Amino acid sequence: MTLEFSARSENESFARVAIAAFVSQLDPTLDELNDLKTAVSEAVTNAIIHGYDGDASGKVKIEAWIEGDAVSITVSDRGRGIEDLELARQPLYTSKPEMERSGMGFTIMENFMDRFEVVSKLNAGTRVEMLKRIESKKALYN
Ligand code: ATP
Ligand code: MG
Repeated sequence: MTLEFSARSENESFARVAIAAFVSQLDPTLDELNDLKTAVSEAVTNAIIHGYDGDASGKVKIEAWIEGDAVSITVSDRGRGIEDLELARQPLYTSKPEMERSGMGFTIMENFMDRFEVVSKLNAGTRVEMLKRIESKKALYN
């Protein structure tokens, strides 16, 4: 599944609903669904407010695919990129404290997903790669 949309904050809820609809074929629990929606919306929000810094002409891309009992999701932008990834991934680090961000987006994604990686290049863009196993489907086959 590939989805591309403008970097407008109105599209955060669209992204949440779209990913929920896509994973419904794996029959996730409500908890799993909420974790996925939260992780995707954190990544999309980051692309919009940090990657493009409010420039709605930017495009955010979501790719998702299912392998067995897991869903893989990438969220990417072609925005400003991240200079110091190690610093950016620290809990409570934010480059926008004046916007009352809490600096917890990456930490939330990491905790809610089974795999989490960030690839970023300064002035080229950022890609967040995530995977989550959906346990409910396993239970179905056991
Ligand atoms: P919160 O997510 O809690 O509102 P936050 O967005 O600042 O706050 P994180 O999501 O953890 O916190 O991101 C940490 C920092 O990494 C950001 O402050 C920003 O500097 C940088 N960053 C994250 N995603 C991107 C991106 N797509 N493009 C450029 N910089 C990014
Ligand atoms: Mg964030």
